[in-house]
Amino acid sequence: MKIVAGNWKMYKTIDEAQTYVRQIAALGAPQKAGVQAILFPNYVALGALSGSGLVPPWLSLGAQDVAGEAEGAFTGEVSPAMIVSAGARYALVGHSERRHIIGESDDLVRRKLVNCLRGSITPVLCVGETIEERRAGTMKSVIFRQLDAALADLTLTADQHLLVAYEPVWAIGTGENATPEQIEEAHNLIRQHLASCLGDSTGRAIPLLYGGSVKPFNFASIVSLPSVDGGLIGGASLKPDNFWELLQIAGGC
Ligand code: PEP
Repeated sequence: MKIVAGNWKMYKTIDEAQTYVRQIAALGAPQKAGVQAILFPNYVALGALSGSGLVPPWLSLGAQDVAGEAEGAFTGEVSPAMIVSAGARYALVGHSERRHIIGESDDLVRRKLVNCLRGSITPVLCVGETIEERRAGTMKSVIFRQLDAALADLTLTADQHLLVAYEPVWAIGTGENATPEQIEEAHNLIRQHLASCLGDSTGRAIPLLYGGSVKPFNFASIVSLPSVDGGLIGGASLKPDNFWELLQIAGGC
C-alpha cells in the first residue's frame, strides 16, 4: 500500500477547495486499489469540505496542525475532537514550516502527537534536517532527537496509528530532491530508530513517507524505493490533475 498525501499549506479558499475536490472526484478513484489518498487543507476549507458531500470515499482528509491540548482557553487553537468533527482522521505534526517558521519546539510537537493519539487522530510526524545540519554531518542526530522527543514514553495501542514523514528542510519547496541514496539512508535510520523506540513489530509497521519537491516527473523513482511507503507533497498537490497523476504513479509501484 502506498500513501499519497497532499499538503495544501496556506492556500485555497472554500470555493477553491470545493472546485478542486469536484475536479478530482470527476477524475475517479486511483486505478489501483493499493493507494491511499489523503489531503491536508487549511482548517477553514477542511470544515467546508467535510459538510459539502463532495469528497469521494477514496479520499481521506487531514488537518495541517492540531493543538497540544484537548480543550480550553487556547485562542486560535483547534483540538483533535474538532478535527474529527470535521470528518478528518489525520493531522500533520511538526511540519518543518511550523518548527522553523512558527518556532514549534520538540516538546510541543510531542504534546500534539500525544493529543492526536488520545483524540483518535493518526498523526503524521514530520522530521528532517536543515541544510546546515546536513553539511555539519548531524542529519542522523537531528532526526533521532526529533523522534526521541516526539515518541518519549509512548506505547501505541492496537487501534492507534502513526505515520512518519522524512522531509529534509532543504528540499521543501526548493525544487531540490534528496537523492535516492539520501532518502534510503535516512529512511533506514528512521526505521531502525522507530523499532528501538516503539518495539520491533510496531516500528516496522509504521509507514514512512518522503517529502521535499516531489513532482509527477520525479515521483516514480522516489516512491518505488524499497524504504518509501509514499509521499507528502506540497506544491504539486495544489492542482487536482497533478495530485491525481501522483496517485496513478504510486498505484503503478
Ligand atoms: C510539504 O509541504 O510538506 C512539502 C514537501 O512541500 P513541497 O512538496 O512543495 O516541497
